[in-house]
Amino acid sequence: MGAQKIWLMSGKRFDSELKLVAILPVGSVERHGDHLPIGTDTLEAEAVALMVSEKLGAHLFPPIWYGSSMGLKRFSGTIDVEPNAFHNYVKSVIREILRNGYSLVVVVNGHGGNSYMLREVARELAYDFKDRAIVVVDWWRDVAQKVRETLFEFPGHAGEDETSVMMYLTPNYVDMDSAKDHLYVTNIKVSTFSALVDEATYPEAVLGKATRASPEKGRQFLEAVAEDIANEIKKIQQVLRELSKCKAV
Ligand SMILES: [Zn+2]
Repeated sequence: MGAQKIWLMSGKRFDSELKLVAILPVGSVERHGDHLPIGTDTLEAEAVALMVSEKLGAHLFPPIWYGSSMGLKRFSGTIDVEPNAFHNYVKSVIREILRNGYSLVVVVNGHGGNSYMLREVARELAYDFKDRAIVVVDWWRDVAQKVRETLFEFPGHAGEDETSVMMYLTPNYVDMDSAKDHLYVTNIKVSTFSALVDEATYPEAVLGKATRASPEKGRQFLEAVAEDIANEIKKIQQVLRELSKCKAV
């Protein structure tokens, strides 16, 4: 079907388009070890969003580059946006997308520090726009989990999975000579917020085994992720169609 990048459309073209599914990538500018680009999270989210919009013919929106990166703020290269500023900015952008008429907004998130705020924003807007829906996907962990487990023994921030994806997407910008491994796992099961845990987990802004990465694993993972997200969107559209029919009767 081909991706529909809205920033390349003329106003006239945009007016003539059906406003069904909008896809918005959100990432971060954050240190990813010594070997991956600082823009990794946004580049990955954008690539996943592009693959999904190609499958569905959905409208692709320009990404939100900066995110909330408190955990890795102590590393150079990280640009951490305050939680309130991030929340309000993303909320304004999604509200504007909805005001332009889209019935479903899919946020493809590439960064863990953004996750809870994106869900807050989506929930708030869902009640302001009662006939629409907003979906938030943390692309690397919410979908294609079995494929992820099969492909990667030591995933994590800038680890085996992220490094593989970036070796596939931007091979010229991955410096494998500087790739490091770091493993730190607690057996804590509940959500724990602690600077001490963050520092132990990311002493060098890497978690997992970056040295085990390969572009082929990255390609397989991305394809499984895009397929899974596209299928989820179709399911959600079906559910919404059924629910709106019920309401009309
Ligand atoms: Zn990342």
